[in-house]
Amino acid sequence: MTHLTIIGISLLIVIISYYFRFLSLSGSLATFILAEILLEAGGIKFIYPILSFFLLSSILSKISKKYFSFGDEILEKGSRRDHLQVIANGGFPGMIVLSGLLLNIEVYNLYLVSLAAAAADTWSTEIGLIYGRNPVRITEPWKPIQKGMSGGVSWQGFSGGILGSFSVAVFSLTQNQSTILSMSFIVLFGFLGTILDSYIGATVQGLYDCHECGKRTERKIHCNKKTNLIKGYGFITNDVVNILSPALSTLFYVLVI
Ligand SMILES: [Zn+2]
Repeated sequence: MTHLTIIGISLLIVIISYYFRFLSLSGSLATFILAEILLEAGGIKFIYPILSFFLLSSILSKISKKYFSFGDEILEKGSRRDHLQVIANGGFPGMIVLSGLLLNIEVYNLYLVSLAAAAADTWSTEIGLIYGRNPVRITEPWKPIQKGMSGGVSWQGFSGGILGSFSVAVFSLTQNQSTILSMSFIVLFGFLGTILDSYIGATVQGLYDCHECGKRTERKIHCNKKTNLIKGYGFITNDVVNILSPALSTLFYVLVI
């Protein structure tokens, strides 16, 4: 592929995402850079799964916001992806592709696992928000938790996670040597990302108390006032968890497979 084609494809992806309001301006710029890296280092086959992930997840986010309008107050981010979310979701898969280029090794399956983990996490959150009933805390499954809180899980959310993981893992079948079994491992380790994400979310992620309205939130500012840290660490934000859990899933995949 020529450099001009690569820049053309990257630009097209970004303009379409911006037009449909899937990405903020900073998110569009970050996506452009990511698309460049993926195309230059890996080629077009690295674009299909991440494009499918971004498009399907953005559509899911838009739908879930209709069902769950107060999600925005509790969660840190809205449905339009900014550069931090793009880096959180695409940065680690991008790094895998770059290291594959530098070390001259085949990293397609590893790339898919890291992306499947990000997709599983996003889908389980969104589908949990739309269809989830009676979420419980992952560390104490006998305790109910407010819908939309990090660390909360439901079987509906978990089903969404498996579907999300599959939506990325299925691209492994485009390779000659791949089988249903090897794809299933990618689905499984991608789904592990959701569990890790919920677990980290329930244990060390920062949780705050708003003095004005009394709500618990992941936001540092609520009701225009600074909130109080009541649990976890302030630097472990949702974006940090979103980087950590796919990284851990990928590491486990390398160790086990
Ligand atoms: Zn408040």
